[in-house]
Amino acid sequence: MILVTGGAGYIGSHCALALIEQGFDVTVFDNLSTGHLKTIETLKNISQNNFEFVNGDLLNSEELDKTFDSGNIDAVIHFAAFSQVGESVKDPAKYYRNNICGTLNLLDAMRKYNVDKIVFSSTAATYGEPVRIPIDETHPQNPINPYGFSKLAIEKIMDDYDRAYNIKSVRLRYFNVAGADAKSRLGEWHDPETHLIPNILKSTFANSKTFRMFGTDYDTKDGTCVRDYINIEDLVQAHLLSLEYLNNGGKTDFFNLGTKSGNTVREVFALCEKVTGKDISVETKPRREGDPALLVADNTKAKEILNWHPEKTLEDSIKSAYQWEKNLQEQING
Ligand code: UDP
Repeated sequence: MILVTGGAGYIGSHCALALIEQGFDVTVFDNLSTGHLKTIETLKNISQNNFEFVNGDLLNSEELDKTFDSGNIDAVIHFAAFSQVGESVKDPAKYYRNNICGTLNLLDAMRKYNVDKIVFSSTAATYGEPVRIPIDETHPQNPINPYGFSKLAIEKIMDDYDRAYNIKSVRLRYFNVAGADAKSRLGEWHDPETHLIPNILKSTFANSKTFRMFGTDYDTKDGTCVRDYINIEDLVQAHLLSLEYLNNGGKTDFFNLGTKSGNTVREVFALCEKVTGKDISVETKPRREGDPALLVADNTKAKEILNWHPEKTLEDSIKSAYQWEKNLQEQING
């Protein structure tokens, strides 16, 4: 049994789906604070009795204990966390309590029930302002917001829990995750939505807000920020490979998940126009606080050690995201 925390959210649900389809027994543990019950229903419908859902909170140790007690859990994939940078600056307490204390409870339940393998959803935000591009895993980690710091603290805690209690971890540092399930059963569904691709696509529907482009005066080829967009299905594969790696006795380690190539906001916007076949209106706005000009991953380590081979293009991600967004709009508007 694999325990997936945060499996009702964007990345966690796609990972749970991949595990279910590979025949793993999966328990999703999620408090539905940002995830969706509808997502859980979708997973349940796809599964063949190899899926369970626990509506639980990591801050509640009793709920965790109950889940571990009844679960026969072999390994944990841990997504459950708050993840909005801006909100973390305004309310750091919320981020430190939920992300760090929640993970401590999870790790302590693992100790108690002798579960010794965890794959953790970390982030490029642990690096902070880049000092070199592309960013490899030896790049200094100096996060510039509480969200990034909460994830870095967990990475450090995981090192200590390996040394002291022999819990092995793989920390996956995501760059910009994009796209949706190719069959459009799941997709990105945040409320409010802050990410670039869904915001551009949402703006193409009736009664929606005009897309706002933040910052056109960066020192990049067209003045807008460069990001490394990694497809959700490729990203999820790295989690399955990490499980395999740990099952084969792999040591605690950490890997960047990105494509090693970057695209500007304007390039993403142009691709969205191509995929949707629409002229999309845009308002240019000042820079959004805390956005570095360039973030691109060196993904060599994950390729070499995990044998990971991301295959999908940015256009693939935008196409699947658009299909999903159309479904979502139909659900919302009837
Ligand atoms: N962005 C934008 N308009 C939006 C959302 C994002 O111009 O509505 C820009 C943002 O300023 C950044 C890039 O798109 O330069 C990627 O932002 P996103 O929030 O998707 O990911 P982040 O890199 O912040 O994790």
